[in-house]
Amino acid sequence: MAEHRAGESNGTAVPALRQAPETPAPSGDLERLCIRNLLAMPGERIFFKDRHSRFLLVSRSFLAEQTHCTEMADVIGKSDFDFFSQEHASAAYADEQRLIQTGEPIMAKVEKETFHDRPDAWVATTKLPLRDDEGNVIGTFGISRDVTAQVMAEQALAHQALHDAVTGLANRLALMDRLSQALAALDRTHVRVALLFIDLDNFKGINDSLGHEAGDRVLVEVARRLLRICRRGDTVARFGGDEFVLLCSSLREDDDVRLIASRVVQAVSAKFVDDGHDLTVTASLGVTVTGDPLADPGALLQQADIAMYEAKAAGRDGFRVFDAHLRSRAVATHEFDEAVRNGVERQEFFLLYQPLFGLEDQSLRGAEALVRWQHPERGVVLPGDFIPLAEERGLIGLIDTFVLDEACRQLAEWMATGTCPSSFSVAVNVSGRQLSDGSLVERVAATVRRHGVSPSQLCLEITETALVGEIGEAATALAALSELGVRLALDDFGTGYSTLAHVQRLNVDILKIDRSFVDHIGGSDRDREIIGAITAMAHALGMSVIGEGIETHRQLGELTALGCDEGQGFLLARPQPPADLMATHGALLPVPGARDRGPRGIPSLT
Ligand code: C2E
Ligand code: MG
Ligand code: MG
Repeated sequence: MAEHRAGESNGTAVPALRQAPETPAPSGDLERLCIRNLLAMPGERIFFKDRHSRFLLVSRSFLAEQTHCTEMADVIGKSDFDFFSQEHASAAYADEQRLIQTGEPIMAKVEKETFHDRPDAWVATTKLPLRDDEGNVIGTFGISRDVTAQVMAEQALAHQALHDAVTGLANRLALMDRLSQALAALDRTHVRVALLFIDLDNFKGINDSLGHEAGDRVLVEVARRLLRICRRGDTVARFGGDEFVLLCSSLREDDDVRLIASRVVQAVSAKFVDDGHDLTVTASLGVTVTGDPLADPGALLQQADIAMYEAKAAGRDGFRVFDAHLRSRAVATHEFDEAVRNGVERQEFFLLYQPLFGLEDQSLRGAEALVRWQHPERGVVLPGDFIPLAEERGLIGLIDTFVLDEACRQLAEWMATGTCPSSFSVAVNVSGRQLSDGSLVERVAATVRRHGVSPSQLCLEITETALVGEIGEAATALAALSELGVRLALDDFGTGYSTLAHVQRLNVDILKIDRSFVDHIGGSDRDREIIGAITAMAHALGMSVIGEGIETHRQLGELTALGCDEGQGFLLARPQPPADLMATHGALLPVPGARDRGPRGIPSLT
């Protein structure tokens, strides 16, 4: 390895400056020479001023920038007031006088320079005290650099960060910031803040049929119309997609927010022509108003959003104001997830069993497990009030898992105590969503095994509507369940669109004819014919048929006459706790020594 020698750094020769014999010693001449070169440096504006902010000396680039100056003499003795706007010159003068007083430098201050005769520019200026040999401040000097390009780029970035590129409107970030400011200002004023959440109703159709460029033009036009409606101090923002928000930050007591909302609805829906096409766009609005400076901006936005969905549900092209009614629903949704999780953990869910009877011999054949929720505040809640929401929130698995487990446990207990025969079956409702969850089959197999019940005693009920549309995964799950030996029933049959052949391919064993048909059976020939045809065809395909929701003797008689196999309904028995089921229907098994009595079936119908 080469030896490291002085004056050399890793092979790069460094001129030995210190030893250079021709280096001149510092002198007044040299200083003047250096300063002259410095003042000739391109780009840098250097200046020296006296105590009255009059120029003593400036750099060549400073001279070059001034329209009527070619010589140093054109500048010396003049001040900023001769070159810049009054406003800028005054600010600079004030800075320099302060500097002279205090001796404190001003470092890289970015300021806008405004001129009499050319566009504004941005400069970063450093100013220092100019001292004589005794250290007295005799003026100022400094250097200023043009940073216009940099400032413009920063402004463009900031604009981009706070604005929507398509419409130029404020974006979500900017809106949330202004909403916070508007709320904070409520403290000092007697106004209210309104938030209007606007969602276009048919934008996707326009985008799909006319293309994204036409879609963008629609958004720009909607933005223009919204801006025309809003007042000074209001903010119109685009939230992405076809969502806009109008923030009215100072709504007076007598301002009617409904009037503003209907104006928005009208303005958006006014026809416009794009590239020869007549276009009509409509909007659904959700509105929320507050006078509370402590209101949470995110929560307000959520309220407006909830109200907007209500407006959509009510038929679109209109608005809905968030009120106490919607508030309670929002709170319910918000707290729902936690309540369900806690409910499962604290065993607030329980099962009632609705008996199922053979219509021909009036024997008790089984029972359907129906879930209930013993809610700590609301009392017993019916499944219709929480199952759909639980499905929507992805929590149905928690409930269905409990139901399956508890029903199998109960069946095992009945079997172990000799309470029911091996032909007795327990039906459990399974949410359609669970069918496409790959773990259902596994879960059913494990539960049946754990409780030691025969799969053939378990019936899973799937509503017909769950099988409408894409059913690939569901069909696979049903086949696997059937393979396990579990029986499958299609619940609420007649409410979907399945054909019987289609149903048969799904390995379904039982059809439960929906209550709505049974309801009309006494009064409508058509419903009677439909049930008769379904029953005959189901039998031909090897399926049995259950009539649900039997409430009258007439319905019971008709169903029996039409060949329906089993029946369920309030007339026969209501859903009941497992102990009551046993008490009402006695020992379900023939008691030794009284074999001829048989299980007790349908209560007296006369
Ligand atoms: P479903 O499976 O069709 O259950 C029958 C519903 O009809 C039950 O309502 C039952 O109480 C009611 N019902 C029975 N007989 C009559 C009658 O004669 N007249 C009238 N008007 N109603 C009768 P419930 O218990 O409120 O359950 C409603 C639905 O909630 C069920 O309809 C089922 O789809 C669902 N469900 C119930 N339990 C569960 C469960 O554990 N898991 C899932 N995923 N869904 C369940
Ligand atoms: Mg059912
Ligand atoms: Mg049903």
